[in-house]
Amino acid sequence: MGVSNEGLPPAFLAELGSSLDEGALLTDPVRIAPYLTDFWSLSTGASHLVVRPREVAQVQAVLRACAGHLVPVVTQSGNTGLVGGNIPDGSGRQVVLNLERMNRIREVASSGDYLVAEAGCILQDVQQAADRADRLFPLSLGAEGSCRIGGNIATNAGGINVLRYGMTRRLVLGLEVVLADGTLWQGLRALPKDNTGYDLKQVFIGSEGTLGIITAATLALAPKPRERHDVWLAIETPEAGLELLALFRNRLGETISAFELIADPGVEAAEQAFGARIVEGRHPWHVLVTVAWSFREGLLGHLEGLLEEAMAAELVVDGTIAQNDAQRAVMWKLREGQSEAMTRKGSVWRSDVAVATWQIPELIRRCDEVLPKVRPGIVVFPFGHLGDGNLHVNVLAPAPDRLTAEDRARIQDALFEVVASMGGSFSAEHGIGRWKRPALERLKDPVELALMAKMKGALDPMNLLNPGVITGPAPLP
Ligand code: FAD
Repeated sequence: MGVSNEGLPPAFLAELGSSLDEGALLTDPVRIAPYLTDFWSLSTGASHLVVRPREVAQVQAVLRACAGHLVPVVTQSGNTGLVGGNIPDGSGRQVVLNLERMNRIREVASSGDYLVAEAGCILQDVQQAADRADRLFPLSLGAEGSCRIGGNIATNAGGINVLRYGMTRRLVLGLEVVLADGTLWQGLRALPKDNTGYDLKQVFIGSEGTLGIITAATLALAPKPRERHDVWLAIETPEAGLELLALFRNRLGETISAFELIADPGVEAAEQAFGARIVEGRHPWHVLVTVAWSFREGLLGHLEGLLEEAMAAELVVDGTIAQNDAQRAVMWKLREGQSEAMTRKGSVWRSDVAVATWQIPELIRRCDEVLPKVRPGIVVFPFGHLGDGNLHVNVLAPAPDRLTAEDRARIQDALFEVVASMGGSFSAEHGIGRWKRPALERLKDPVELALMAKMKGALDPMNLLNPGVITGPAPLP
């Protein structure tokens, strides 16, 4: 098989060549290039080989070969991760293991309670498979047309429906995992209850490719809502957003699927970028809420009553309820297209922090105070999941201004300090990867750090799985 041996042991390449099909091995630098750069093109790694197995036995063969020849491996599913754990480092010694060809839905339970998907299934395809079974797979995020379920599980992804359905962790009933030495752990159970010792699947969920390779998962499905409404509301302050959240919780409780808070600069940029608009005039803040339930009708009346109450209490300045799927899509495009819209305006730095929900207004106030002092000329445009206390505090340096690596590091340090002083999390849903490891080492409790290092040592004693990500010895320079 015509595999380049640049930087990799020839015996390793021969072993791979004998256990994988031709389409599994990519060595052409042009074909490899997209696997080496992250979604926003912030960083590019180096590798001479991308391996794309088609079945579990091939993943086992790859890991056996890596273990036998001490070749480090970076696992990838959809390559939309935002913390640099999905791309290799610059050494050229790491092999990329991409799961995109393992993309079959193996089973949809006749009861509709769960489905079994391979790691390379695109999230949107999993949602559609659930829909065909008249069920809902509620994980939903901006990258859902590209990210894959293995990556979602490996990052314990969040997204817009966490408020109601929880993080990915809550949606996983069982896992199939290939361990660092090639051993297969067949844990594809579908049991809602199983207290037979440690819950091992939880070890791999959120482990970002550092403890094992997830090859398939049993995913819990939810009942499909029959009546759904999306409402966009213009508000004056984040405090009004919190009061609205409380009102929604009191009146519509378990029907709330999403509750997003969005600052106006991002909305304005998205309106310009996509030529769409929801409310007239400019308002400093916006919320986007989804409510849904299993009944076919009746929810709209409750929602309208709530909105009248909110208007009377002057919590809301303007707003509209989506009348059809097209309007719903515009609302979510204006929310989820903000990063893209701002990227067209200049240089963007993104974050993913969390505090207690009631602290969100204070977090916003402190970011507005602190960040422009750290880097004059920036626009702070937070948006995110108010219902989860999770805000993406993002900043823009409008072109021709550009954020340097130093600027980014200084802004990050300042934000993380604010968040730490409020008892919050510097990474609510994106994970640690390579880029946030220094922050983890600085800010995490030493006992927790030591436990993580022990887990890594136990499951990956040769430090071959995503070395340099989260924990474990840093790879050689
Ligand atoms: P990858 O990027 O391929 O990998 C991510 C990490 O998981 C890496 O460390 C990798 O080594 C590891 N990994 C991947 N596959 C496996 C596997 N099979 N076994 C073991 N380890 C593996 N994230 C959110 O949580 N919420 C959001 O709302 C959200 N919105 C986003 C919007 C946009 C526009 C973009 C670009 C990203 C967004 N993300 C969000 C981040 C990203 O989409 C998620 O982290 C997603 O879960 C990553 O899935 P992936 O398949 O792309 O994983």
